[in-house]
This record gives sequence, C-alpha cells and structure tokens, in this order.
Amino acid sequence: MHAAARVPRALAFSASSVFGRIRSLPVQRIGQTCKLHRVASISATSSRTSEMTYPIGEPGVPWTSEEKKQWRASVETPVRSYNDEVITKIDSLRKNFDVQMYGALPYDDENTERYPLFVVFSKNWDETKPSVLITGGVHGYETSGVQGALEFLKSKALEYSNTFNIACAPCVSPWGYERIQRWNAEAVDPNRSFDKQNVFGKGETPPAYESAALMRMLRTLGVEEWLVHIDLHETTDRDESEFRPAKAARDGETCEPDVIPDGFYCVADSNNPQPGFQKAIIDSVRSLTHIAPPDTNGNIIGEPIKQEGVIEYPLDDLFLCASMTGAKYTSTSEVYPDSPTASPEECNQAQVACVVGGLDFVVKEEGLVSR
Ligand SMILES: [Zn+2]
Repeated sequence: MHAAARVPRALAFSASSVFGRIRSLPVQRIGQTCKLHRVASISATSSRTSEMTYPIGEPGVPWTSEEKKQWRASVETPVRSYNDEVITKIDSLRKNFDVQMYGALPYDDENTERYPLFVVFSKNWDETKPSVLITGGVHGYETSGVQGALEFLKSKALEYSNTFNIACAPCVSPWGYERIQRWNAEAVDPNRSFDKQNVFGKGETPPAYESAALMRMLRTLGVEEWLVHIDLHETTDRDESEFRPAKAARDGETCEPDVIPDGFYCVADSNNPQPGFQKAIIDSVRSLTHIAPPDTNGNIIGEPIKQEGVIEYPLDDLFLCASMTGAKYTSTSEVYPDSPTASPEECNQAQVACVVGGLDFVVKEEGLVSR
C-alpha cells in the first residue's frame, strides 16, 4: 500500500508547498537529537484537543519567506562545532583514506568555507570491485548518524575495503549539525530533496543545496551500479515535540500527536525490499540496542511492519536519500537516542552494527571475495 494512503490528512503537505507534489509522510517523522545535545529552543505546544501548534506563522497558512526568516533567526546560533566534532575526525582519517571536499554550503556570506562538505573514500578505488555508499547527517540533528559513520570509517571500513569500494559522506548537512536542526538554513528538508529525475523542474538544483551537492559529487565518480547504500538516521523525541509541528506550520497544515517508536528500526524500499538484507541489519543491531516493537496496530510510525523492526517506503517517490543511487541493497537506519537505556556511544555503535551487518550479509549473499 502507498505510504500516503495511511497518512492522516492533517499531515499531508500543502499543495502550495514546494513539496506539494510529494506524497506526504517522511521516512521518519522529523528530527531529534541525542540526549546529551538537547538544547533549549522554541517548541511546539499541544492543546487540550489533539492539535499541536507552533510559535511561528498563522495556523493553516503556509510560511512565506518572512516566516522562514523568523524561523532561521530563532535557530541561527550554533550550539556545537562542525569543525571540532566532525572535520577534525575526518582529518584523522586521511592516512588510511582519500578525503575529498565536494563543495561548501552557501549560508555564510563572510566565510564561504564555513561549511565544507566532505566525502571519504577507501584507497585503491577499483572499478572491478562493487561499490558501497554510506551517508550520515542528511538530517544534521541526528547525531549518531554522523558520529556512527565516522566511527565505522575509523574502526571497521578498512576490513571491507579489499572487498568493496567505500564512499562515505558522514555529515551531509553541517549547518543543521551545528544547530541540531532537521532542515537546512532555508527551512527545507534535505531528505525530501534527492530529486535525481529532476521532477522539481528547477534545472540542476533541487530544493536542498545539501542534496544537490551530494548527487553532483556522486555523478563524478562514474559508478555505473552501486551495490549498497545505507543512510544513517535517528528518530527522536524532538521529532514529535518540535519538528513535526514545525513542518505542519511551514506547510499550513495541522499536526496531530503521534508516537515515537521506542527502539531501532530500519526502512526498506517498497519497490526493492531486500528482506534478508534488512533482517541481517536488525540481527546485527539488536546486540547494541533494542528493536522497536510495533504499536497496538502493528505499525511503526504509521506503517505496517514487514518483519521485526522493518517498514517500507517508496523511496523514489519521497525523494529520500536512500533512493539516490538505485543500489541493489538499500536501507535507512533509525536509531532511537532518547531511550533511557541507550547512551550516545551505544547509538553510534548501533549505526556501525547496522553497516557491518548489512555488508556481511551482502558479502555472503553475493559470494564476494577480498581482493
Ligand atoms: Zn533523519
């Protein structure tokens, strides 16, 4: 069944929104943050009825550029350092990996290098080896997606680099990382912007600069067929308290309360679900953190589970990052960092386990050998 068919009407995108033609529900409903990085910010309120409101704009009226400016001003001050927490770790990988800067975000007029974008490659890239893409921080606030990708590079990637070419973009949205925000500086969700078919009709530039830059970089690699793409995310309590209401406000919609899953789950492509691959990921992660149970309706974020901890979305139709390569094996991880039993380090390791579990499965399934 179609994702949108089950989406409450109140959550549907406004027809006037730039996303109006996209079926509604996000892979994960909006953003969040690891407990240690929680910050004070504007937040939504829930009335006695079930409707949630947001303190910018008029209810039911989509934001104009004025409200988007207000929103940006409300989150503009960085609360953590991309340089200290990400770039320095990327630099430490240079001995064993090739690091390439593939652009810089255009949000700081005075310092155009403030947000350089990096991709890390395994050395000795070889066209005869199958290629793997790992992405983190497409949603900048999802800390373990970024730190888990970096940890995979540091501790595990070399073990796989004789079998695979590995490309890893650990922090796709650094402006969002510094502010613990889901959207980019223009109030656009990068993970609804991987417009590889250019259906937005805006030439080479889809709505999010972050997504366009990543797709442009991938095209330069000349990889005809990616074998694996794993996109690392979190689903957080702040998705419910802030980011869903913000999205509804931006699009002039109403927002009804929902439940954040308690535990890890992953999202497969409904057009290419690869259940064995997803199961391998779940089995690998469960030693680090618990798997999200379905709700009383048998769903996770409104979607029926296909197997333990696995739901499906039509990735292409939602312009999700994991649709970008058309890889044979794709998955989007969703770590739950707000669980009282999951430390930030465990969340990072859960992301590593997700990648390792997926790659080990592919090695076996495809009969791959180390070269
Ligand atoms: Zn996300």
